[in-house]
Parts: sequence; structure tokens; C-alpha cells
Amino acid sequence: MSREDYVDVSQLRGMSSRNAIIYWMDSTEEEEDNSHNSKITEEVLAQAMQEWKVQQHNEDQVEQAIAENLYEWGIDPNAATCSEREITFFHCAIRTAIKTSVADSSFIDITIEDGQQPLPRHLPTDMKEAVRYVLSEEIKNPLETYRRIHDTISTEYGQNLGFAPYIAITQRGQDCLQKKLKKEYIRINQSKLNPFKRFSSIEMGKKEYYERFFFTTEESIRLAGLVFEAITASYAIHNLNTCCASCNCSESLRWMGGYGTSWKDIVCIKCDSSYEIKSKASNEKIEKVIRYNNIQGGSFKRFHRLRREKEGIEDAKHYLVLVSRAPSEIICASVACPRTAWQVDLAEIDTVLPALRDVSFTRPAGDVVLKSSIKIKEGTRKLWFRIPFVEIDQRGIAREVFDEYYESTI
Ligand SMILES: [Zn+2]
Repeated sequence: MSREDYVDVSQLRGMSSRNAIIYWMDSTEEEEDNSHNSKITEEVLAQAMQEWKVQQHNEDQVEQAIAENLYEWGIDPNAATCSEREITFFHCAIRTAIKTSVADSSFIDITIEDGQQPLPRHLPTDMKEAVRYVLSEEIKNPLETYRRIHDTISTEYGQNLGFAPYIAITQRGQDCLQKKLKKEYIRINQSKLNPFKRFSSIEMGKKEYYERFFFTTEESIRLAGLVFEAITASYAIHNLNTCCASCNCSESLRWMGGYGTSWKDIVCIKCDSSYEIKSKASNEKIEKVIRYNNIQGGSFKRFHRLRREKEGIEDAKHYLVLVSRAPSEIICASVACPRTAWQVDLAEIDTVLPALRDVSFTRPAGDVVLKSSIKIKEGTRKLWFRIPFVEIDQRGIAREVFDEYYESTI
């Protein structure tokens, strides 16, 4: 593919989705020597576009999301310095996002192919027991491979800098993107920022994987995520005052989270609504992600699988549940005494866009692993409930679960 073939992002931004994709098809057509293959691609994309319209996705959002994401990772497909690999990746990410959002048989989950739809499961009432249960489910269930992402910058600079180094901004009055380096990245040599060079995926043994997941600082947020998913779900399900936000029924919520599921940690058995739980470090962090309406979500592929499952179910709503990991002091009006609680808010999910994360850059070829960015529906955010604070020793419970598992499997 020659440099002239790639898509000009600034042109993409002004186009309707359909035109943009046709433009992309035109621009990649020369890649296909075989006209038969080219026709298949065209048909698949035409079908994708049809489905796209039916599903009422905002037309320009998906391409724009990928383009902006690439900018945030420092890759500009229009720049003369852009490598062939980067350009191919750009095309591939768009193609994966489109394929993922239609009912393509290659994207159907194995559990569904086997006819084994996951069922709601029991979750203990006691919060510590709920945490223990979720962690032990996690460790018991096998993964295909155990991997971690190696980040050369974190290794060299001794800290975890998190997500993409740049912010993509649109200059006032201009229709093209500019990228601005985040301040925490300023001291880092620019040549180290390229995500293809920066990240690699390292395979490891199961024991080593869980030692890292449960007991290291690098993974402590991930462990806390699982812990707060257990705490929030247990309280929502077992507290009789908590109702489904859609149908208002009580005692209708069930646990569906944990291993092998995403986007529906809780479901309502009356109206089929689903709830995705995300924890944030504090209420301030929750305010911030809501203000920018950009919340990091899980697998883009799994989101579309769930969306297809729920199609045609009228009352089924999809909620994002946001819980603060920092307990706050609240004045309880009825009891008139201060107490400490974890605040749990929810909002309806409006749309989910593809997002590129560290893992997206670690595959040498094939479909790009797409994560997601969640956008919530304006005006739907509300306080759902508060969980009375209980001291929970996350690492201690994780240690017990880990030791118990490895003692029993020796
Ligand atoms: Zn309901």
C-alpha cells in the first residue's frame, strides 16, 4: 500500500459515516489483487452500514473515536513520518469496529455457540464473603493464556503513567485535530512514546499472574475494581430497599458478573435491564468522568454482543453504575447522625465507542483488540443507594483465597 492510499482524517471528520466508509473502501481497494475478495469486502461493509443505520449509531462517532484515539497515542495517519504499520493498524481498527458491531458469526462468543448462556448466580449477603466469593471464582476459572502488558516507559521511569500520552483537541474554528502532550509525559524522551514500541504482551504462568494481580501495586486498582464490584452487587441484590432503576421492582436484581462476563454485572429478572459496575477512586473522580462524559469501559466486542441480546426487549435499559471507593461522611436525615458510606450513582448508557488501549498495540497482526469509551445519557444520572462503610482487608482476603486455591491444587 502506498502512502497516498491512507485515509485523511481531516476529510473523514467532515463526512457522513457512509461516505467515510466508502472513501475508506476506495482507499484500500488497491490492496486487494483479487476482485472477488474485494467484492466480498464491499458486501460485508454494505451490510455493516445497513445494520449500523438500524442500530442508530451516531454516524461520525466511530471513525472519529478511532482517529482521535490514535492522535492521543501520538499517531497521525496523515503525517509523513507515519509508518506503513501504523497506517495498516489505523485501517484495521476501523474495520474491526465495524465488523464487531454487526452480527458476524466469527464474533459470536463460544459460550453462546455451545448454548451455555451464563445464568444469574448466587452472591453472599455478607460483603466480605461476597468479596471472597468473587475472588475465588476469578482464580478458579481458567483463562486461555495468562498475560501481562509490559510498558517500557513504566519500567524505565519507575511509575505507571496510565493511558495515552497526548490529548486530542480541536482548535477553535478548525476542523482538524491537534495533539497536546500531557504534562506527566513531558520529561520522557519522545522516541519512547510510540505505542507499538512501548507495549508488549508477556505470557506467564497462572500462579505468577495471580500473585501479580492480587498483591502488587501495579494491579491494585484492578483488584479494587473486582472487590467493589462484589460489594456493590451484594448490597444491590440483598438490600430490600434497593429497586431496579427501570421497573422499580424490589428483589428482582441478580448477580451476573465476575469471571467471563462483562457489561452486565447485575440484571433485573423482571424487565431484563442490565447494570455495569465501575468503581472510581473518589466522588470527585466520578464527577470528572461524568463532566467529560468519557468513561473507560470494557470490551467493545462484548458490549455489542449484549446489545444484540437485548434487541427488541422494550423495557430493558442498560445502566452504568459508578461507585466511589472512598467512603464519604453523610448526614442521615432520619437518624440525624453522621455515618460513613460508599456512594453509588447510576446513569443510562447512551452509546459506547471503540477505544484503543495499551493491549490494542500488542498484537502483531489481525483484528485489533478494541476497548471502549462509555457515554451516558444526559439527565439520567442519579444517586442509586449508599452502602454503609465496612472495613475490608482486600489484600488479606486475596491472600486467603490465593493460599486456599494453591494448597488445594497441589
Ligand atoms: Zn427491572
